[in-house]
Amino acid sequence: MMGNSDDPGIVIVGGGICGLATALALRRKGLNSIVLEGSSSLRATGGGIGIFSNGWRVFDELGIGTELRRKATLLSMMRDRILSTGAQRETVCGKDEVRCLKRSDLMEALANGLPHGSIRFGCQVVAIAEDSMTSLPIVYLHDGSIINAKVLIGCDGVNSVVAKSLGMKKPTPSNLWTIRGFTNYPDGHSYGSVFTRLVGGNVTFGLLPIDDNLMHWFISFQLRSDDAKIEDSERLRDWAMELLEGFPADACLMVKDSDLSSLSLTHIRYRAPWDLLFSNTCRGTTAVAGDAMHVMGPFIGQGGSCGLEDTIVLARNLSVALNEAPETELSDDLLRNRVSAALDNYVKERKLRVLRLSTQTYLVGLMIYNPSNIIKFLVFRLLVAFFGGMSFDHARNTANRATGDDLEHLSLRTGEGSRAIDPLQ
Ligand SMILES: Cc1cc2nc3c(=O)[nH]c(=O)nc-3n(C[C@H](O)[C@H](O)[C@H](O)COP(=O)(O)OP(=O)(O)OC[C@H]3O[C@@H](n4cnc5c(N)ncnc54)[C@H](O)[C@@H]3O)c2cc1C
Repeated sequence: MMGNSDDPGIVIVGGGICGLATALALRRKGLNSIVLEGSSSLRATGGGIGIFSNGWRVFDELGIGTELRRKATLLSMMRDRILSTGAQRETVCGKDEVRCLKRSDLMEALANGLPHGSIRFGCQVVAIAEDSMTSLPIVYLHDGSIINAKVLIGCDGVNSVVAKSLGMKKPTPSNLWTIRGFTNYPDGHSYGSVFTRLVGGNVTFGLLPIDDNLMHWFISFQLRSDDAKIEDSERLRDWAMELLEGFPADACLMVKDSDLSSLSLTHIRYRAPWDLLFSNTCRGTTAVAGDAMHVMGPFIGQGGSCGLEDTIVLARNLSVALNEAPETELSDDLLRNRVSAALDNYVKERKLRVLRLSTQTYLVGLMIYNPSNIIKFLVFRLLVAFFGGMSFDHARNTANRATGDDLEHLSLRTGEGSRAIDPLQ
């Protein structure tokens, strides 16, 4: 098995959803890794996260699906209402599995599946270089220490140092911001299992039940500023309530009664589909995954699930490269060649899928927020023609329709002839 404390082998930068899921997926394939996380403890900013069928398929592969399902209500439908006209659209979830999880529950489930000590907190990575002798990655930490990695996976989010080292452009800031939080109803809430979005002018208020008592909510709004910052959570709550002027009274009450410690303000940034098309997302034995590769707006709730998909494809490809050869054969040269072929394959498998989700997200954002009705109409036609309109098709049809199992692609199982070790079998 690759990796001990002196020679970590596989190094993952970033212990967010994607970094921990990558470590767990590798672990399920018999590969150890270390995760370098800049924060001093598990980060779960943002309150809740909506997870669709594709994300749940990944959780099942990681062995945490059953545990997480117990903590999140199965949603029955999504309801969009335009307040000014009263127009309403309902999309029934049907056989699509949609649930909203507490981010902290998800992070804990992922971390609990990893060996003790494999997440190193307080390790801020400041730069990446390439060893001139071996061409393998060197990781520089904020305290001056250095880690010689064999394989480097950047799961370090929107400001990824690893993406920068690959020459990827910085994500584009939008003029959209979001305030998110939780509200607890000790006697139970009255929202059932419906995900509701209320649209009032340029403000969208979304509310998702997590369980019978807890609601996750978000307010999306436009603001032409690059550095709005509000540290004080009472002021953030007051701002959120101002944004909801004219919204139904129960919406305002939900924000008023929110758990102040759960509130956060986020500036939405994205990697445009055309930037993704021309970016190098891997080089040698280094690659990126999750937001570091394809940060996107939250409009179809796929950023996290798309990153989760990455982790399965990445672990499957790496396991073929690393588990097939006896360890003694793994000279630096051989390892570099095997891993770089595996990472190329990972990027090839992911490219179209990631492009599709980024493009669809970009178009939905345009349709909601572009002021021109002509653009809204044209974008809507495009969405209907190429992306199944506003259905959940994107969460189901991940790659391979020929087999009849649209989510089959999200499997850690390797193909016939592979000698990869699967500890689950
Ligand atoms: C408002 C909003 C709503 C969203 N809603 C949904 C949703 O409903 N469903 C969904 O699927 N997705 C949603 N997303 C997207 C989802 O949150 C992200 O795609 C997901 O969190 C990305 O996970 P990640 O692990 O790639 O990155 P992150 O969660 O950003 O994690 C990166 C980690 O790396 C660490 N790090 C960063 N730099 C360094 C460094 N240099 N050294 C060491 N550590 C570092 C950070 O501390 C962090 O822990 C939403 C996003 C936003 C902004």
